Amino acid sequence: MRQAIISDIHANADALQAVFDDIEARGIADVICLGDIVGYGPQPAECLSLVRDRCRVVLMGNHDYALLTIPYGFNKIAAQAIQCHKSILNEGCLDQQRCSDHLEYLKGLPMRHEEGGVQYVHASPRDPLIDYVLESDVAYGPSPKIKEIFELIEGPCFVGHSHVPGIVTPDFRWVPPDQANGMDVGGGKHVINEGSVGQPRDRDPRACYAEFNDGKVFFHRVEYPFRKTMKKIEEMGCLHSYCAERLALGK
Ligand code: ZN
Repeated sequence: MRQAIISDIHANADALQAVFDDIEARGIADVICLGDIVGYGPQPAECLSLVRDRCRVVLMGNHDYALLTIPYGFNKIAAQAIQCHKSILNEGCLDQQRCSDHLEYLKGLPMRHEEGGVQYVHASPRDPLIDYVLESDVAYGPSPKIKEIFELIEGPCFVGHSHVPGIVTPDFRWVPPDQANGMDVGGGKHVINEGSVGQPRDRDPRACYAEFNDGKVFFHRVEYPFRKTMKKIEEMGCLHSYCAERLALGK
């Protein structure tokens, strides 16, 4: 089995296209998306089209959910981006049929997926939309939260949401991507964060995704023209300028 696992695209079509090109070049046919297609970036509709065309399984992220409801608990910049995307996909939409189709599609996204003993969620198996699995959950011994999460999984579990790639091992160690590359996670409980396509937060501006290949995980980084994306954000008028600035910083 060979899969590409992508997450947290955040309306960054330049990064998403570069990642799909990389997936194609590696000959990976099967793509699973763990959500947050919208939020923060300049091209929510384009990203929805690309994801719908290419991914076999797509899960709901908290930003996708906020677009359909309200941005509850979001900071000001993230909430502003949701309002911006709401208007792009509603009254500001140039192709009403396409936009309402995208909104219907978002409403139908599941929050969990499981196949072949592997779990997939946007945030965590304890709370598929809200929980963060972080390095700090194991930095000083396992937190009660991470213990609860591990009680809910049987084998590997892929998550996104934090935008920071890495693996939590069965003995509660956080292994960063450079050390985790090629790690065999097939034999036990692991939480794998594949990082973010459209807004990496590990100080590396390159898009990030994971390849799951016969039980082994590989992290791939992909260059994309982020200055071009920054310019698109700045020209929108309805997104905060930090949404652009952070792309160059990888945070
Ligand atoms: Zn996200």
